[in-house]
Amino acid sequence: MNTKTLGEKPTPEPTSREVSETEPTNSEYSSILVNNVEKPQRGSGENIDQSAQGSGSTPEAVRYRIDFDRSRCVRCGLCAAFCPVEVIRMCEPPQGADSDTRPRPEAVAPELCWGCETCAGQCPQGAIKVIALAGRDPFKNRPMAPPLTTEELHQYQEWSQILKEVLGLRWEPVAISLIPAGDPLPDVPIPEERLRYCQSLMAARRGRSLMMPANRHACPDGTSILGLTAMPAKLASGELYLLFHKLDNIEAAQRMVGERPCLEARTIDATVVTPLARAAVTPQVIAVIAQPEQIMWLLMGSSYYSGHRHELHASGYNAQCVETTLLPYTTGKLNVSLGCYGCRASSDVGDDLMFVGIPLAQMDTVIAGLKELDKKAIRQSRAKIYLPPMV
Ligand code: SF4
Ligand code: SF4
Repeated sequence: MNTKTLGEKPTPEPTSREVSETEPTNSEYSSILVNNVEKPQRGSGENIDQSAQGSGSTPEAVRYRIDFDRSRCVRCGLCAAFCPVEVIRMCEPPQGADSDTRPRPEAVAPELCWGCETCAGQCPQGAIKVIALAGRDPFKNRPMAPPLTTEELHQYQEWSQILKEVLGLRWEPVAISLIPAGDPLPDVPIPEERLRYCQSLMAARRGRSLMMPANRHACPDGTSILGLTAMPAKLASGELYLLFHKLDNIEAAQRMVGERPCLEARTIDATVVTPLARAAVTPQVIAVIAQPEQIMWLLMGSSYYSGHRHELHASGYNAQCVETTLLPYTTGKLNVSLGCYGCRASSDVGDDLMFVGIPLAQMDTVIAGLKELDKKAIRQSRAKIYLPPMV
């Protein structure tokens, strides 16, 4: 057993959203910095500004800082309405602090912030910056799992190579593991920044390996669906989906929420995504991000020996956490997703791409079927053998 601890892991790979404990504050911004030790009273700008002085703050406790550009803010309240965990509230300005006496947004509970940037994305004035600060390693000193056997790793490398060669994939197939609470952890870097689960999948398809405990996940929806945390009330009720104009009424929102699978809160300690060829732990699901034609061959590979038709579960909601990961994970069946608002809005995934999640137990069948299809069907189809000559 490898007794190395995660506290000794190498420096994570460079990231697009650099995290800095000392990032300078723009003087135009009013910065509000609160810590976990002295929680502010909610709903009072006065208390927040006192906490903003940073008394008793420790770098480990600080996670995110919300900066409002007061010169741009028009006090519309959208940031407070859209924040899924009620970090932001519209508060009366402290007496004498502002000539405009209308309620203004304040980060009343920044210790709850997920860094999801929903507030910044919804602000019509571009008046919000979400600044990532130093976080703590929740797995410090925790024993690590032994590495995969050479035989197992070779298996994944072979699958990856066949998938890429037969389908002509541009991106790496991704190995997904949900680490049950208390299980040993693989030697996979924890990113400095918070990412949405879908963003981590997109990064893995480009070659990154990421292990994300709850405090590295930026999407409250995906994080609670995958069992790392409890679900915020605004999401459990469906209320937030109405604000996004994704559904017509609260009944529809509650139905959408109720029909999707969701793991019990805090039964999962971390999500791990890596290129399949560099898996560090046995995956439960393999994700392929590809064009419809390539996904079609995967479905045909899966049913090559059985001839069964697939009952797919796609909705346009929770594409990566539910449709690509949790459905294959919980049902043992392959599932296809067309993507969703979240993953398309927060990643560079092309409009021509879709997603499939394949349970590990089905991979032998899929690969064997794909190899058979490659002998004739795939080649003939791609050669367009029935296309009439163009005049
Ligand atoms: S959404 Fe933007 S403009 Fe509206 S209150 Fe919040 S910071 Fe101000
Ligand atoms: S980043 Fe997300 S959780 Fe944090 S204040 Fe903005 S909306 Fe709320």
